[in-house]
Amino acid sequence: MERYYGWEPFQHTLGGKIRMAGIGLHSGQPVNMTIRPAHPSSGIVFWRKDKQMAIPALMDRVVDTTLATTIGEQGAVISTTEHLLAALAGLGVDNAQIELEGAELPIMDGSAWPFVHLLRKIGLRRQKSFKKIIKITDEITIQDGDRSIRILPYEGFRITCEIDFDHAAISKQCYSAEITTDRFITEISRARTFGFLEEVEHLQQNGKALGGSLANAVVVDRLGILNAEGLRFEDEFVRHKVLDLIGDFSLLGFPLMGHVIASRPGHQLHLKAMQEIARRPECWQLVRLHRAGEAGILERSIRPFFLPVSALAGHQSCSA
Ligand SMILES: [Zn+2]
Repeated sequence: MERYYGWEPFQHTLGGKIRMAGIGLHSGQPVNMTIRPAHPSSGIVFWRKDKQMAIPALMDRVVDTTLATTIGEQGAVISTTEHLLAALAGLGVDNAQIELEGAELPIMDGSAWPFVHLLRKIGLRRQKSFKKIIKITDEITIQDGDRSIRILPYEGFRITCEIDFDHAAISKQCYSAEITTDRFITEISRARTFGFLEEVEHLQQNGKALGGSLANAVVVDRLGILNAEGLRFEDEFVRHKVLDLIGDFSLLGFPLMGHVIASRPGHQLHLKAMQEIARRPECWQLVRLHRAGEAGILERSIRPFFLPVSALAGHQSCSA
């Protein structure tokens, strides 16, 4: 039976340290990143080495959702967090510390694959603490014009996503599947981000997307896809939207047990959906798994979105 990444009873961190180098999508500047193992229950925490500032990967730290998800703490920001966060969530990493010297993650090939590849190579280490998950018990819906997200009770983690672009190369696409680790790796993690040529040119004139190229995005114009190698999947666009959703939803701080049905979603809508979950504690429970795949009620909290102060303990090793 395929295993869902969130359904391991115990928390996991990395088996070792990973170093990566790339360029920032918007700055176009070289960026180095180190991902380290972290203590149980510390969560995913970014560390801006240049500013000596820790930024937990949690929804209440989101400061901007235009083009990418940016989190921040006291003026220090980290942008384009979603693809790495998707890789960590997809493989079931609960605790990790991500060290950066700038404000942006490396874009790599525009997908989560380079992160997934290195995380699998270094392997995961099981930790002694139990994992907690958010189990949806009642429907939660948010609507924003013609965009919407519904989250239904479901014994697993399922995503149904549909997009509808007024563009021949994309138009309507729908993806619906139970998100297991295997499926995340093979069907989702390699889907690249995409952009429209006119928009990319406009962004670059305004000093954004300076690192954007056909090496790290699928670029579409009126006639079709500009990338010579073509698409990695026929429906790569909607699969990338699923990737973004997985990455953004990890900002809840716990894996989600439920069926997320998203229509024309984006980073802003993801944040609104998470805020609605936080506002509706009667619609979910924080639970612990007794055995893989079997949820049992551990506790219920109305304020689960703030990590304890001990979550920051891991940063001492960075500043030392
Ligand atoms: Zn993306």
